[in-house]
Amino acid sequence: MIKTNGYAAMNIGATLKPYRFERRDPQSKDVSIDIRYCGVCHSDIHQVRDEWGGSIFPMVPGHEIVGVVTAIGDKVTRYKLGDRVGVGCFVESCRHCENCEKGMEQYCTTGVVLTYNGRYYDGTPTMGGYSHRIIVNEDYVLRIPENLPLEGAAPLLCAGITLYSPLKHWGAGPGKRVAIIGLGGLGHMGVKLAHAMGAEVTVLSQSLKKQSDGKRFGADHFLATSDPKTFADRKNYFDLIINTVSANLDLNAYLSLLRLDGSLVQVGAPEKPCAVAAFSLIMGRRSLAGSGIGSMGETQEMLNFCSQHGITADIELIKIEQINDAYERVLKSDVRYRFVIDMSSLPA
Ligand code: NAP
Ligand code: ZN
Repeated sequence: MIKTNGYAAMNIGATLKPYRFERRDPQSKDVSIDIRYCGVCHSDIHQVRDEWGGSIFPMVPGHEIVGVVTAIGDKVTRYKLGDRVGVGCFVESCRHCENCEKGMEQYCTTGVVLTYNGRYYDGTPTMGGYSHRIIVNEDYVLRIPENLPLEGAAPLLCAGITLYSPLKHWGAGPGKRVAIIGLGGLGHMGVKLAHAMGAEVTVLSQSLKKQSDGKRFGADHFLATSDPKTFADRKNYFDLIINTVSANLDLNAYLSLLRLDGSLVQVGAPEKPCAVAAFSLIMGRRSLAGSGIGSMGETQEMLNFCSQHGITADIELIKIEQINDAYERVLKSDVRYRFVIDMSSLPA
């Protein structure tokens, strides 16, 4: 076993503290990664607080991992020492269910192995990226394009792919009107990506505080949802609305903004269910859907798309000891626009 340092929550809602733990010895298809940066996703907070149920403790969060390859197993063919690589939200899948065979491993029906707060198929808990090193089978490792700075690329591994996948699936592009609800970590990536795909992009934010940033990311319109005029003016307007908000919203109000055959796609994952009136969907043949991260193939495609368009996240780099304060700021929607941990701040 290989010892590594990290930061963990020891039980539900606990502040994160230094934690020393063991990783498996590298197997023949494994890549050993020296973690340089790890993004801070709102999902880390949901899981530390056990808001989705079933959290496993101690928990080392982190699924926006970038680093450098320091060792490879004898059967590794795709990576070599020194390569710049990333690991996203999962580190293994069954590889033989219907969805894995279609190359949609994130929807593995056996149960995808999450990067942290999950279990390998032998029952061992997984530990995430708030740590010095991680060992992952090469089939679940991504290549970070050379022109992307590692720290700005880290959030692409979750926030980036979580928006890229539905934008592509629902056809964001020229002539399509796309709205992004919530300008946080996921939302700001959604604006950049939808703009690069050629769609008309509108941000629906709680206030106009982030307006100039939203426009800089590529939004054509920026509207405050606290203003009732927003809902009156944009009725029957959008082809696609992606909801990135971590709390419950009145989905009926947002569904009314969709034009005929439009879709509201839920990526934000609030703790509690939300009520939807049948007529919100019936009128205008509207769809309400959800979307989860993206497959390995699609994640690499997204990284290459970001490389071509020069897209990375707008980040605030923090030291690991600032993590608990960073969580508080995320909860107040006070993040511009993703915290990324500089792992060199974690004592050896
Ligand atoms: P975040 O950085 O906290 O961004 C969420 C944004 O939502 C905030 O910046 C804020 O934007 C808005 N917001 C927050 N509270 C609100 C409220 N009470 N009412 C209205 N708007 C509110 O979080 P994130 O990291 O982007 O993650 C967002 C959600 O997506 C989380 O629930 C996370 O677990 C989930 N997630 C899902 C997937 C997936 O695969 N589906 C992947 C990753 C994360 P404004 O200030 O602009 O209003
Ligand atoms: Zn995430």
